[in-house]
Amino acid sequence: MQESVEKICILDGGLTRVEDGSIYSPGVNVGVPTTLSCNAYLIRHKDKWLLWDSGTPDAFYAEPGGKIMTHGVRAMVVRTIAAQFDMIGLSPDDVDIIMFSHAHYDHVGNSRLFRNAKWFVQQHEYEAMFGAQAHSFGYFPEFYSTMRDNEVELLQGDCDLFDDGAVRLIHTPGMTPGHCSLFVRLPRTGPIILGGDVAHNCRDLQYRRVPSFSNDRDAAIESMRKIEELARQEGATIWINHDTMQSGTLPHAPAWLY
Ligand SMILES: [Zn+2]
Repeated sequence: MQESVEKICILDGGLTRVEDGSIYSPGVNVGVPTTLSCNAYLIRHKDKWLLWDSGTPDAFYAEPGGKIMTHGVRAMVVRTIAAQFDMIGLSPDDVDIIMFSHAHYDHVGNSRLFRNAKWFVQQHEYEAMFGAQAHSFGYFPEFYSTMRDNEVELLQGDCDLFDDGAVRLIHTPGMTPGHCSLFVRLPRTGPIILGGDVAHNCRDLQYRRVPSFSNDRDAAIESMRKIEELARQEGATIWINHDTMQSGTLPHAPAWLY
């Protein structure tokens, strides 16, 4: 079956600023200050609300200059996720299903808001998040520790969430062991792939540039190939979460895309 979801809303999940853009593309953009968009995505399908990623922690809104995280990365929040839910007339409690591309702070930052959501996660990612070596993957467990209390379904590999082809979780390891991307079929826009951090911008995807802090370089390159192949097969557009230029061309909350 090839059904479509009803609609999607792109939420502003903050900004990431680095002084040396080459951490995402070794040897390229050395010493060049770089700004990355961060997005979260709310999807409506079969009377369910699905959230993909949750942005930078809303608490950073109180620090207008941002907060230094890993690798000299500065994280900033201009609009909170809670305020954007309010703007579209929903509560975080309404979210039925939550998924994260991976557990870095700019993706799980507001996970604690979504207490009622069932969490679909790769078993490899779950084990890395709650294992003794969580910090070695660049994780800050304090941002997602409450996810232990959510209902959880552990996955091994790709998953067609509703068995109707509308929303498919695609395992794209590399950046982290259980990194995923999300295939979503929209009724008018057509199929899209929410890439997560499979690449940090369109050029890095094209030239197979792997960040210096990637967990597994070979797996990351294979995942880029996998996503591009899926996009070709389905005629899908790849939305790169952190590509500021591409993100700027897409409408954000409170707008919906169909
Ligand atoms: Zn990221």
